[in-house]
Amino acid sequence: MDKKCDGVVRTRFAPSPTGYMHVGNLRTALYCYLIAKKLKGTFVLRIEDTDRNRYIQDAEQVIFDTLKVCGLDYDEGPGKEGDVGPYRQSERVKQGIYMKYAKQLIEQGDAYYCFCGHEEHHADTCEDGEVFTKYDRHCLKLSKEEVEKNLAEGKPFVIRQKVPEGKTSFVDAVYGTIEVDNSELEDMILIKSDGYPTYNFANIVDDHLMNITHIVRGCEYLSSTPKYTLLYKALKWEEPIYIHCPHITDEEHKKLSKRLGHSSVNNLLKNGFLPEAIINFIALLGWSPDNEQEIMSLVELIEKFDYHRINKSSAVFDLKKFKWMNGEYYKAMSADSFYNFICPQLQKYPSIYDRRELSDLLHDRIECFEDIDTVLDFINDLPQYSNEIFENQKFKVTQEVALDILQKILPKLESADNYSKENISQIVKDFIAEQNAKNGVVLWPLRVALSGKMSSAGGAYELLAVFKKDESLRRIKIAIQKLENN
Ligand SMILES: [Zn+2]
Repeated sequence: MDKKCDGVVRTRFAPSPTGYMHVGNLRTALYCYLIAKKLKGTFVLRIEDTDRNRYIQDAEQVIFDTLKVCGLDYDEGPGKEGDVGPYRQSERVKQGIYMKYAKQLIEQGDAYYCFCGHEEHHADTCEDGEVFTKYDRHCLKLSKEEVEKNLAEGKPFVIRQKVPEGKTSFVDAVYGTIEVDNSELEDMILIKSDGYPTYNFANIVDDHLMNITHIVRGCEYLSSTPKYTLLYKALKWEEPIYIHCPHITDEEHKKLSKRLGHSSVNNLLKNGFLPEAIINFIALLGWSPDNEQEIMSLVELIEKFDYHRINKSSAVFDLKKFKWMNGEYYKAMSADSFYNFICPQLQKYPSIYDRRELSDLLHDRIECFEDIDTVLDFINDLPQYSNEIFENQKFKVTQEVALDILQKILPKLESADNYSKENISQIVKDFIAEQNAKNGVVLWPLRVALSGKMSSAGGAYELLAVFKKDESLRRIKIAIQKLENN
């Protein structure tokens, strides 16, 4: 076991406030949370708000809200100050934390001032036919006097890491040992001309000062990690354990894009995906437990999660599977809580219809809000239909039989006033007994008349209870009229 594991495990989620939470970000937060909770450690939230161009007012709130709704409570972070705050990088900049270490690196010869500004100082390098551009180290050649003169004149500068010659390797818990030739690494900027640290540099400094033991992030950072390793070495800091997570792609194996909408956690919530289902599904994007279990609560995930089982290959965001899983979570809800959850979505259905009955119709039949309109497509308007849909071979129902049944049951329904499901179904059952008929012979024409469809959500009893008296009678009378006009 790694030395870091002997102490207290500390993980951090370090998002930038962009006003948008990508499912990949939430997965990082979740894995950080699971590792910390599983190993009885501390889950830290740090806001990386040093990129002032991208800063969006109130965008932080999206981060807080998303973590809260998903149950990923952080132990330390903004509003939950621990010993290593502040937890916003903009506040840390004011304390001069980053500049201090950047200057230390300059003194050691591991970093240097660069005054190139926006001028092009990039050399094209050919690597296996691929061209990539990197900074040509123009300012590395400046003498100490030239540097001091520039600084005295107040010339704007950035501070760059000086990558030494040789090779650099690091160990990743998922991808194994990775070694690169340092010639492939650019002298990355540590401090920008506005005095703010770059994302990369601030991360290293903060992770060290906050005693972070496990770094979870997307595998797009694998290529930058050797530069981090060099900085840890230069600063004589112990490197954390790296856990890089695989890419998340859509079903076409393309990067999960904003365009499709389901890369945004907020959009998923708006479309009726339950936080529990989102967490469950996202946990499985790149990780799986040692059994085949798919439905897992957050508590079960803490128990089962093992970062050594994270996969290297890309994780496919299978929307079909996600919808199925969400549907399973719906089914597991009580009828009451499903009703409370779905009710705001039913406002476009006239209140004369029993919304509780509509909710019961939907409970086992939808997987997200998008499905509501499909399942309830006959509720607001009776569809246009042809009389043939009353015919049913199995129940030996012809159009004549359907007409006969509907004509006979109409007065029973007209004389009833209580259209609760219990009451109205008892009236229909009594009628079936009185007619000495098979259930289907009565229920089929009734359901078709009410829904205007061959197949629909809910049977005759449910639909009578949904529509209540006036609308039920209206639809049955329309059916009788159509069948009489044959
Ligand atoms: Zn320069």
